[in-house]
Amino acid sequence: MPDKDKKIHYGTLSVRAGQNPEPITGAIAAPIYQTTNYQFRDVEDGAKKCESIYNGYCYTRLGNPTIAILEEKMAALEGAEEALAFTTGVAAISALLFSQLKQGDHVVVDDTSYSATRYLFDNLLAKFGVEATFIDTSVVENVEPAIRPHTKMIYFESPANPTVKVVDIKAIAEIAKAHHLLSVIDSTFASPIIQRPLDLGIDVVMHSATKFIGGHGDVMGGILCGKKELINFIRDDTYKNMGGVIMPLDAFLLIRGLKTLEVRVQKHCANAMAVAKYLEAHPKVDRVYYPGLPSHPQHELAKRQMNDFGGMITFELKGGLEAGVTFMNSLKFCRLAVSLGDVDTLIQHPASMTHWYVSREERIKAGIQDGSVRMSVGIEDAEDIILDLEQALAQV
Ligand SMILES: *Cc1c(COP(=O)(O)O)cnc(C)c1O
Repeated sequence: MPDKDKKIHYGTLSVRAGQNPEPITGAIAAPIYQTTNYQFRDVEDGAKKCESIYNGYCYTRLGNPTIAILEEKMAALEGAEEALAFTTGVAAISALLFSQLKQGDHVVVDDTSYSATRYLFDNLLAKFGVEATFIDTSVVENVEPAIRPHTKMIYFESPANPTVKVVDIKAIAEIAKAHHLLSVIDSTFASPIIQRPLDLGIDVVMHSATKFIGGHGDVMGGILCGKKELINFIRDDTYKNMGGVIMPLDAFLLIRGLKTLEVRVQKHCANAMAVAKYLEAHPKVDRVYYPGLPSHPQHELAKRQMNDFGGMITFELKGGLEAGVTFMNSLKFCRLAVSLGDVDTLIQHPASMTHWYVSREERIKAGIQDGSVRMSVGIEDAEDIILDLEQALAQV
């Protein structure tokens, strides 16, 4: 496991990075600078700060000290030179794509991308003449043949939503380098605790901070991490001019979430492993997809590139759609809801909920069956989660 060798002090970085006591009062918690403006000393001072955010604060859409703390903490956790925080994950993705792509460009995209990511490529970027080819990047041999003369970027998720497919991050980074392409990973399912793609040669790491980073299901956010030059280019380009800036209070909530990230992720992983093993042994369950199970198609790769296997499980019941619906309607403890990475266990049915807009054929090609159930295992006691699954499975 690559990160273990480097002995990254995730706990210390989560709690301390980016944070020193506030100099006037000694306050230890991050101050929430709930302000739009910053008063200038004089005209010359104002002119300097308006010209560039790097000369000091001017207006919160361009920069804010609470947001800066969040960015510093995330950069430290991902091992990045720089991070940039947005109001949602989708705002981060669109700021990245609209900043880096132009008419005539081509992108290689994994075929199990998040719904809004897929929409961006299929509809919004297509409208501006950017073309995308969707392939299964977990089969590394698929990638090079999809590259064209005008290809600019490879975009993928690992583990991927919702099939928990694992992609060889290092192999994709190497292909991207050889062809001078920007490599981008949506690492939301993993969080920085489980994998650090920049260490494996990836150019940009994206997170929906709404998920594990916030972790409590009460705040939305998005993060981009990468080299200073690239991230600051996005800061001056689409970040400030398209306006997907995170609010200071939300940045504070994410800072607070990050402080417990390592311990939460450890419990998510331990619970998910227990639930995955339970489900795999159950006679009414047809298949369980969890990178920590030896039956997972990329289990060996997951062991190599991840520190643990995450909190996300997808499974199929033997009775298909009907069994899935009965099972889900019988749950009493697990919460029927979208989103993930929450302290509460959340369960959803991709075919009718998050992936309703994908054609059945496309959906099944991407590994999402009619009866697939996606579970984000929370940090409650595993026994309580399993008891609920047990009684709901008995109804099927
Ligand atoms: C939720 C999610 C997103 C989008 O993030 P928002 O914060 O909802 O905008 C992107 N990618 C993945 C993998 C996600 O789970």
